[in-house]
Amino acid sequence: MSNYEYLLSDINKINGVGIKTAKLFKKKNINTVFDLLWSLPRDFIDRGDLRKINELQVGKIQTISIKVLKYNFPRIRNLPNRVICEDDTGKLECIFFNSYEGYIRKILPLNSNIIISGKIGFYKNRYQITNPTHISDNINSIKKIDTKYSLTEGLNEKKYNKIINEVLGNIPQLNEWLSEDICNKFNNITWKDAIIQLHDPRNVNKKGDFYDRLVFDEIFSNFLINSNIRNTIKKTKKNKKKFNSDTFNEIKNKIDFELTTDQNKAIKEINDDLKSEQKMFRLLQGDVGSGKTIVALSSILNVIESKFQTALMAPTEILAQQHYKLTKKIFPKNIRVEILTSKTEYKIRKKIINRLENHSIDLLIGTHSLFQEKLNYKKLGLIVIDEQHKFGVKQRKKLSDKGGKNCDILVMSATPIPRTMIMTIFGDMDVSIIKKKPKNRKEIITLSKLENKIDEILLFSKKQIKNGNQIFWVCPLIDESKKIDHQSSIKRYEYLKKNFSNKVGILHGNIDKHEKEKILNEFLNKKIDILVSTTVIEVGIDFPNANVIIIENANKFGLSQLHQLRGRVGRGDKEAFCILMFKSNLSENAKKRIKILKASNDGFKISEEDMRLRGYGDLLGFKQSGLQSFRIADPILNEDLFLLAEKEVKRIESKNESIKKFMPLLKLYDRADILNDLV
Ligand code: ADP
Ligand code: MG
Repeated sequence: MSNYEYLLSDINKINGVGIKTAKLFKKKNINTVFDLLWSLPRDFIDRGDLRKINELQVGKIQTISIKVLKYNFPRIRNLPNRVICEDDTGKLECIFFNSYEGYIRKILPLNSNIIISGKIGFYKNRYQITNPTHISDNINSIKKIDTKYSLTEGLNEKKYNKIINEVLGNIPQLNEWLSEDICNKFNNITWKDAIIQLHDPRNVNKKGDFYDRLVFDEIFSNFLINSNIRNTIKKTKKNKKKFNSDTFNEIKNKIDFELTTDQNKAIKEINDDLKSEQKMFRLLQGDVGSGKTIVALSSILNVIESKFQTALMAPTEILAQQHYKLTKKIFPKNIRVEILTSKTEYKIRKKIINRLENHSIDLLIGTHSLFQEKLNYKKLGLIVIDEQHKFGVKQRKKLSDKGGKNCDILVMSATPIPRTMIMTIFGDMDVSIIKKKPKNRKEIITLSKLENKIDEILLFSKKQIKNGNQIFWVCPLIDESKKIDHQSSIKRYEYLKKNFSNKVGILHGNIDKHEKEKILNEFLNKKIDILVSTTVIEVGIDFPNANVIIIENANKFGLSQLHQLRGRVGRGDKEAFCILMFKSNLSENAKKRIKILKASNDGFKISEEDMRLRGYGDLLGFKQSGLQSFRIADPILNEDLFLLAEKEVKRIESKNESIKKFMPLLKLYDRADILNDLV
């Protein structure tokens, strides 16, 4: 047994943890000894040093050495039993509610010397302790410092403390996995000692080298895996793609805008990858509406020019349709584009499958079905995945494998997140970022309104519609736990229908796919003016004609989410509005958030503020998405440690150090299974 294996053993291997206790822990997702180590002290009680009775402080928990003098057991029921005790400075009374005589005689025998600890009271000129819980004839068995954990239901404090102490006492000394330099930065504290300090109750809310070391380990293990995946993929030698971007230059004339500096830079970075011998594994990051599509199309055209096939995967059918229409409009006629979705008829599907196999399709656009089915591309050279920020490392790796050795990968994400998060979530990829949005963009004017002013909003909406504009109207789910609760949106829909001569549509989670598509198309074709929906409005879809978004109960959303919703409008050249509705007066915190949102249209800045206010886990549902989250590392608070870990991983890469040394770290931090998939 390697020495870290104790930490990975099942929780029921701990002395004192039986089947029942193990079950309680497992309910809380504490499965191994290691897991238990992250259940941290919440608070502690300092019982202080031994005191004399005349030094006691009322209201504090204190410990005294006393002699048992006299019992007072009243014969009347409901009156407490009392025990008078003394030391050489005074007297103290122990008061017992609900304890039997026999028990009291046993724990406090007459004339014995006993240590006792509890909260000191003072009544009728005498010190007292009511229901003392810590009584012993041995000072050492009453710990000066008592740790309090957030208890797992069904486990009492004493037992919990005992279990944790048992584990802390058994932690093995592990071979150091950090380099000397890094260890030095944390004052050379070992992992074991750091964990023990982490559990020292006096360190609750205190941070120091021990804490930083543990945070670093967590980040480091994540980055090591990312680096390993990146390098495995990059080691794949592929055939260089050869092109002059002729076709792309041709279509540049068909679009009515100039590319931005950031778009051009991204295109160049991608082209360099395509032309190189290393397989591309790149993330294209850019806020909603920053113009990622055209960058993707440029790379698709270049790969086609170099005589390879390409695949473009969208998260929804409607988005796939939109991409399809766009390529039909701007691609030269000789480029063979097809679309494949779950709705594609059998006959057509079969044809497409055939044509893929003999390379008579250049670009296939579709949804997830592009990779679930038995599609055999004759010569696949590029996969582009649109808006897939919820893809985990493992899934991306699989995708890359599926494409084959000559297949480059481009992933696009519209989730503006701080750099530390990009390093964490997309650290296995190279990154191109479109920071600045196209210049012609008008700022979206963001306003807030109380719900009882809805008449003003209706008036405003009528004016907008009269000018030929369209409106998104978002109603959040009332009760997040009951996802079927669409009452608010349905009610609002009925209300708006009356006010806007029926030219209103509704979308919510209960509406089936086909109906949904029909409604979205009606909106796209201006058959309806207002689209009421819960937050399910398609990610990334381009409705240039909609210039107003009204968001009800806006305090239900996080900043980033509001920003993403707001990004649905302001894509055309019209003045755009985002109206945030509130039920009642805003709390200070809500006001702060609205201010940030109004002041900035920069998704990166907003997401950073959002993380500061809410913690990174809540950011755009990363927690729910099943992406590994950290136990103690925080991308905002520990930015310096993220950067340090990045530097260290780069150093290891450059030295070509073997990953073997880090195996215990990776195993403990639950990353090693990803590694196994790689080999
Ligand atoms: P996203 O990054 O969210 O996918 P899109 O690629 O859908 O954004 O682009 C949003 C809109 O901006 C589209 O209507 C697109 O035609 C337009 N657009 C893209 N690049 C530019 C540019 N450089 N100048 C002006 N408009 C642009
Ligand atoms: Mg897009």
